Amino acid sequence: MLTRDVMRSTVREFERYYNPKVGNAIRLDTNTNVFGSNPAAIEFLKRGIDGLDGYPNTYSDGLRSALADLYNLETENFVVGNGSDEMLDVCFKTFTEWKDTSTIPVPSYVLYNYFIAMNGGTTNFVDLTEDFQLDVDTMLKNKSKIILVSSPNNPTGNSFRQKDIEEILSRFNGIVIVDEAYAEYSDKSMAKRVNEFDNLIVLRTFSKVYAMAAMRVGYAISNLNIAGMMNCVKIPYSLNKLSEGAAIAAVKDQEFIRRSVNMVKEQRLYLSNDLKKLGFIPYPSDANFIMAKAPIDHTVLVNGLKKKNIIIRDFGDKRRTENCIRVTVGTREINKILLEKIAEVIEGC
Ligand SMILES: *Cc1c(COP(=O)(O)O)cnc(C)c1O
Repeated sequence: MLTRDVMRSTVREFERYYNPKVGNAIRLDTNTNVFGSNPAAIEFLKRGIDGLDGYPNTYSDGLRSALADLYNLETENFVVGNGSDEMLDVCFKTFTEWKDTSTIPVPSYVLYNYFIAMNGGTTNFVDLTEDFQLDVDTMLKNKSKIILVSSPNNPTGNSFRQKDIEEILSRFNGIVIVDEAYAEYSDKSMAKRVNEFDNLIVLRTFSKVYAMAAMRVGYAISNLNIAGMMNCVKIPYSLNKLSEGAAIAAVKDQEFIRRSVNMVKEQRLYLSNDLKKLGFIPYPSDANFIMAKAPIDHTVLVNGLKKKNIIIRDFGDKRRTENCIRVTVGTREINKILLEKIAEVIEGC
C-alpha cells in the first residue's frame, strides 16, 4: 500500500474537512440563513431550465451584471465562481509563487490555511489582539505576499476597525483580501470602495444571508486591473447555469435579505443576553453567529446538545478560543429551544 509520501509534500498532512452526521438535527453550526432556502432562487429553480447541452456563460456575465447593478460598479469589477472558497483558491493561484508567505490572523476561518498550503505557500499566523482586533504592526512585520482577513471575523464574530484595514491597505504592497461573508449583518463593508485601492480584493458569498449554500456561489470584487487578472486564472465555466440563474434571481430580491438581516440584528441581542444568564461569556458580534466561552466543559456541552438534536460548533480545543463554542443566531423560537436544551445539559452535569 502506498504511504502518504506519494502525496505532494505541501498537502501530506491534510485531513478531511468538517463533515458531521446530522440527520434531522437543528443546525446552528454553519451560520447559514435560518429562514431556509432563498425564495426567489427556489422559484427560479422550480420554473426549470433547458439548454443543458451548452456550456454556461464562461465568466457568468449575467450574474456579474446583476451584481454590478447592486453595488453600482461595473461587470468587470467582479469575478464569480463556485463559492467564495473558489475565489480564495483563485487569489492564491493568481498572486502567489511556491513557498510565498501569506499572513492570516489567529483565530480566523479554518480554510484559509488550507488554501495557502494547497497552493504551496507558507502561512504566517498573527494573533489578534486581546479584544480580537488586528495587530497591524505585527501583521506587516514579516514579508508576505497576501494578507487575508475576514470581517466580520469567523469565528469571533466582530468586525475589524475600518481604519486598521485601511492602514494595512496603504502600508502593505501585496494583495489584501477582505472576506466579507457576513458583511450584510454588519454596517461595515469595503465592497463599494474597491476602485480606491490598487490592492484590495473583497470576497462575498451566497452561502450565508442569501440562503443558498447548496448552490455554491461566491464572488470577488476588486478594481478592474486585479479582477481582470483573476478572471484569467479562474477555471472557465466553474459556476454552473442553474446556480447562476438562481443567484441572479436572489440578487433581485433584496427584501428577503433585509428581512433576514433585521431578524438577526434583533435576535443576536436577545441570544447574547440569554447566554449570559446561563453563565456564558458571549463576545460582541456583527455577524449571524455568536462565539461564547462556555460555563461548563465545551465537549460536554456540544455532545450533550447533539444528543438533544442541536448541533453547534466547538472551538474549545483551539488556542485563543479555549472552551468557546460558536452558535448561529436563530429565530426567537429556535433560540428558545437552544437555550432550554443548554440549560438541561448544564443541569445534568
Ligand atoms: C461561510 C464562509 C464563507 C463561505 O464560503 P462559500 O465557499 O462561499 O460557501 C467564506 N468565508 C468565511 C469566513 C465563511 O465563514
